Amino acid sequence: MILIRIRNDSPDAPRTGGQDLKQTAKSTPGVLLTNANVLDYLPPQMHAAPDPRVELADLRIQGGRIVERGLGLAPRAGEEVRDLDGRTIMPGLINAHHHLYSTLAPGMPPPANTPRSFQDVLTEIWWKLDRALDPEAIRMSAVSGAWDALRCGATLIFDHHSSLTTVGGSLDLVEQGMRDAGVRGCLCYEVTDRGGPGSRDTCLEETRRYLQKTAAAGEGVPWFKGLAGAHASFTLEDGTLDSLAEICTEFDTGVHIHLAEGSTDREICQDRGWPDPLERLDRHGLVRPRSLLAHGVDLTPLDLQTIEEKGAWLVHNGRSNMNNGVGRAPVDRFPPRSCLGTDGLDGNMFGELRTTFYRGNETGRGPLGFHGAERFWIGGYQLAREIFGEPFGSLDAGAPADFLIGCEDQKQPLHRGNWLGLLLFGMQPRLIQEVWVDGAPRYRRGDPAPYDGKACRAAAKRIWDRMANL
Ligand SMILES: [Zn+2]
Repeated sequence: MILIRIRNDSPDAPRTGGQDLKQTAKSTPGVLLTNANVLDYLPPQMHAAPDPRVELADLRIQGGRIVERGLGLAPRAGEEVRDLDGRTIMPGLINAHHHLYSTLAPGMPPPANTPRSFQDVLTEIWWKLDRALDPEAIRMSAVSGAWDALRCGATLIFDHHSSLTTVGGSLDLVEQGMRDAGVRGCLCYEVTDRGGPGSRDTCLEETRRYLQKTAAAGEGVPWFKGLAGAHASFTLEDGTLDSLAEICTEFDTGVHIHLAEGSTDREICQDRGWPDPLERLDRHGLVRPRSLLAHGVDLTPLDLQTIEEKGAWLVHNGRSNMNNGVGRAPVDRFPPRSCLGTDGLDGNMFGELRTTFYRGNETGRGPLGFHGAERFWIGGYQLAREIFGEPFGSLDAGAPADFLIGCEDQKQPLHRGNWLGLLLFGMQPRLIQEVWVDGAPRYRRGDPAPYDGKACRAAAKRIWDRMANL
């Protein structure tokens, strides 16, 4: 095996791996990976139906993309060649709903008032954490959380950010942290009215600023995109929903928002005299293509039909729903445009897929079923295609060179007939040898973290101490 060492001389290059510096693939010589056992899910044509396949192939990588796929490809002058000897390659994993700002939360002291409800969990934990974050803690949370996710195989995270006392510029801090880790992102700020009208306007300004920044199409596959973002119907006034809809129309985008995460959303909307959450978002024009609705636990069959008809996405976060005790999402009735997210718990998408499947079986086979899990998994790549305009989920010529390489000691053979079973029951982050994003390795097993652990722990202690006084 030839170890690829690439010098970092590009200012835009994500920094990874401590002393082992790498650069964006744009200026690297090509790389030829031979004899890979390649799993991919979608043809390279943007609107093609899923067609999972597994086959032995060589992949030629140049400029952040796979430029050629075949068997027996001849090396070109100056090209690095690596024989993978039958090891697995599969597309990098897509996390459709995450909160990197919560990365430093594990281990924090329990809240003084024990949460008795989901609303208590929000007010006693998350709404204190997001007010305690300072700029350095935001960046540190992003780099360390993205590094966790990368090592679990994730190459693209749809992040839902909140830091209520540091709003302006906060998405740049998240972006910088993710660049430092080497992970792509689709970012948004959780607009809310819970801080009052002045705070809400600052949230809307940050949303608009970041959408303007990421609107311009550059060369290659974009590293970052933006969405309008919002917390949840029950913390948003009607005028704010109108402002979000205006932003969506102006930037031809959707909103990334929590929807019906348990009954709280509906109950508070009813107390306020508002329609139920999905109907309310729909009346304001926010249930639309490119909108990303997270959870959907407390939805009616009519709500689910509306989401499907309007072309919005629904994200299942099974482990988070279990942790928060908000109920069981009706995953068997989720629309075709559905995918999976970790909701700030961790970056482990294999774990999310597995738990989703287990939960479907908990009270008897189904309701999700074996192949139900497949559509949620592939849905993440279809979502990424819609937002980025790039053929994610394919490892054919023209696709982004975002993938993971399995270890030499993978125990079971992978073939077309067993890929889902192997992902559900066999794949673990510890079986990942390397993760490539934009045509270059951003993580290789054994790499040091791209941040100072001592500084990270100091940031965690600092925000925990602040939370105790909020
Ligand atoms: Zn969430």
